[in-house]
Amino acid sequence: MSNPVILCQVAKELRALADVVEGEAHVDGPPWIDRVAEMPVNTNPDQVYMVQRGWKAWPLRGTEYPVTGLTIHHTMSHSPLATAQYCTKSVTKGGKGYPTIQYHYWVSQEDGCPVYRLVPDKEMIWHDQTGAFQTTLSIGLAGHLHIAPPPTEQLESAMILIRELCGEYNIPKGEVQGHNDRYKGTVCPGWDQARWRDTFSLLLNSALGN
Ligand SMILES: [Zn+2]
Repeated sequence: MSNPVILCQVAKELRALADVVEGEAHVDGPPWIDRVAEMPVNTNPDQVYMVQRGWKAWPLRGTEYPVTGLTIHHTMSHSPLATAQYCTKSVTKGGKGYPTIQYHYWVSQEDGCPVYRLVPDKEMIWHDQTGAFQTTLSIGLAGHLHIAPPPTEQLESAMILIRELCGEYNIPKGEVQGHNDRYKGTVCPGWDQARWRDTFSLLLNSALGN
């Protein structure tokens, strides 16, 4: 199987080369590596909140629920696969009993900070307590980001992704929010504890305009 990190580095170098040739920046395709097929799924989810809040097993986002925002999380992990295995394992076996991992996108801290797509945008997933009325995509920044802030390169990769998604879904800047902006019962993504909220806002302003 091809190594996604190497593929991402090659893609970055090709883009850099194209910039030199053409004299301006451009992106040849989505700024993420698709890893949806690698992620384990649970076709018999047992997460209690989904039942309480009226989620059917594995709902698909329809026209009734357009994408209106992005929610930023920290993943408390550096392995999408390990996190997906934990999320999809049944509660009785010590997992979360969810249908899938809780992040549509994962911004890694690996060399070059590649971005992975883990769940298709059209699939609603339990991630920010907005329940059955969820209209947000979930972006997980790898790491324990309540302890230490994310490296600048990781935030820059996140901004490229955010700019792409905001353009695709016409999402206003104010709807790019942290998990703890949408739900006060969490410190996620840890930006108030590790003091990187302002850095994120500055980068977001320069990515999307003031
Ligand atoms: Zn979160």
